[in-house]
Amino acid sequence: MASRAAGTYPPVPEPLAHPVVDTHTHLDICTGARLPLGAGEPEPEVRPAEDEEFPSLDFFFDTAQSAGVERIVQIGCDLPAARWTTELVTQQSVQGRTWMLGGAALHPNEAPRLAERGRLDDALTEIESLVASNDRMRVVGETGLDYFRTGEDGVAEQQRSFRAHIEIAKRTGKALQIHDREAHADVLRILREEGAPEVTIFHCYSGDEAMARECADAGYYMSFAGNLTFKNADELRRAAAAAPLDRLLTETDAPFLTPHPHRGKPGGPYLTAVTARMLAEVRGMSEEDLCAAVWKNAETALGSWA
Ligand SMILES: [Zn+2]
Repeated sequence: MASRAAGTYPPVPEPLAHPVVDTHTHLDICTGARLPLGAGEPEPEVRPAEDEEFPSLDFFFDTAQSAGVERIVQIGCDLPAARWTTELVTQQSVQGRTWMLGGAALHPNEAPRLAERGRLDDALTEIESLVASNDRMRVVGETGLDYFRTGEDGVAEQQRSFRAHIEIAKRTGKALQIHDREAHADVLRILREEGAPEVTIFHCYSGDEAMARECADAGYYMSFAGNLTFKNADELRRAAAAAPLDRLLTETDAPFLTPHPHRGKPGGPYLTAVTARMLAEVRGMSEEDLCAAVWKNAETALGSWA
């Protein structure tokens, strides 16, 4: 059960008035089963204190259920994490636990590293076979562009990888989850050029109000994470207020982006509850109505968890 590391983690919020879905989380990193590749030392926020163990999968299941975060989407964003994810979602469903769906892709920062070693194309083929062969794998993501962490020399391979993932999502009929960091215009342009998959989701939406309108016109979903609660996020909150209700989703990106006032600590899917409450406040809706709406949106976008 909750290991010693539970002390490092923010407290579990009061249960929501209606359940919600964490549509994007990394339990591979949360549990320490896999740490991000190529990133050197893991950032302090992804792990418990030095002398503590990573919490177990059961800790994240129990805390999520107690907060009303009844369903999650586990995302593996390099090859080992993609394999880990496919295995886990299969195992959970075999055990009769229907709380979890999965997704896999090569992260935009991972694509140039693979390309450098001549392994990008083989990796893309494996991603496609992992998602195509498994009904619990409903997402191709996270893919997209990251001009914050990857320099100019990686841009061409990043864009090639993004285009390939768009094609994979369309061929396999899965939803596309986009990582867009400081690359709004190019992400939107490439989606237009390639033709976006039927279900396209901006994971950890980070655009402004004008971009939210553009996404709404194109029918894209906007998924909000813990950064919606940050003190300096007024522009993001205006975007969340402007997006159409039927395009809104909730997520954590755990262990990253832990909501205020616990920013900088490692998080878990249970903290979707904090973001959902902020979203209700921003939209001037009751907690119950907002959560019911985003719960329904997640099913419309990703299908049934049962
Ligand atoms: Zn992520």
